[in-house]
Amino acid sequence: MKSLVLLVTALSFLLASGCSQDKPYRESRFLMGTLVEIAAYPDTNRVRTAVAEAYDRMEAIEAATDHRKEDSVLAALRRGERVILSGDLRAVFASAMMIARESSGAFDPTMGKVVSLWGFDMDTPRLPLEQELRNSLKTVGFEKVTLAGSIIKAGSPVWLDLGGVAKGYAVDEAVKVLKEQGASAGIVNAGGDLKAFGKKPGGKRWRIGVQAPDDHQELAGVLEIANGAVATSGDYERYFETGGKRYHHILDPGTGYPARSGLRSVTIVAFDCLLADALSTAIFVMGPEKGLELLKGRDGVHAVLVLETGEVLTTDGVGSEVGFERR
Ligand code: ADP
Ligand code: MG
Repeated sequence: MKSLVLLVTALSFLLASGCSQDKPYRESRFLMGTLVEIAAYPDTNRVRTAVAEAYDRMEAIEAATDHRKEDSVLAALRRGERVILSGDLRAVFASAMMIARESSGAFDPTMGKVVSLWGFDMDTPRLPLEQELRNSLKTVGFEKVTLAGSIIKAGSPVWLDLGGVAKGYAVDEAVKVLKEQGASAGIVNAGGDLKAFGKKPGGKRWRIGVQAPDDHQELAGVLEIANGAVATSGDYERYFETGGKRYHHILDPGTGYPARSGLRSVTIVAFDCLLADALSTAIFVMGPEKGLELLKGRDGVHAVLVLETGEVLTTDGVGSEVGFERR
């Protein structure tokens, strides 16, 4: 649902600009578990082909980072097999490890077994038993894993889940394809993880809605960016309820339970969508104080945090370097 709201917001603003010949070519496909909407300027045959190629690129990344299929590389890794990583898998994994180190493990790509125990990767979530969680947590620990060339080294089988970064990487790569193939401006929006590039006809900036946590129709605010990426992690995106309690899909690697850090959502603005995607997940786990600390000194990275209290915190550059209107 988040996807739809952000999408509609991003595109309605996009369409509001310019006259008819300034319209972008638009297409949407279901990919990586979400609706991926691409809009690209100008609407020419060349750009239409570029959009098709961008989707092909995203499909290839989805296949490379998938852990569900038994014949996938990630399935082989969790069986303890030695495998050579493809360029895409290597790139996503290396970035995930970097954010794991920087966030002291709040973001941890080795959470695969715990994520699948909750079933968030399968759309059949359930509350695991304490004992099951304790056992699965033994497989977690990015510090036990190293990347040597294109090979992952670890003492025991590695359960990777790249769900917190793969979408961001795919968005970045799709934008690369669009630019290389002649699009002058555009946006790739994978369910709220998005990247915009180029100048729209009319020169207006891109306006991106930040969803309010409990109401799909409401916005917490609207960001305005010249170009760059936006990604959001929120506790309302994927969750289930049982015994009167809500359980969402962003897990604390320390406990194996959904992170309760005082946040409802974290929206990150950065140049790369991969970084925005990984940081939004990491900061959701870390909470507002440590999270904002992690962002200090990062040029071009901005954040909008929606707290459980309803309060909205923003970093210094929000309102100056990037536009932001509270709703
Ligand atoms: P979404 O995929 O809904 O946009 P996120 O980018 O926040 O949401 O990523 C959440 C996904 O990341 C989860 O569905 C799971 O696959 C994985 N994940 C959950 N907790 C963690 C964590 N602490 N570190 C790394 N990945 C995580
Ligand atoms: Mg993320």
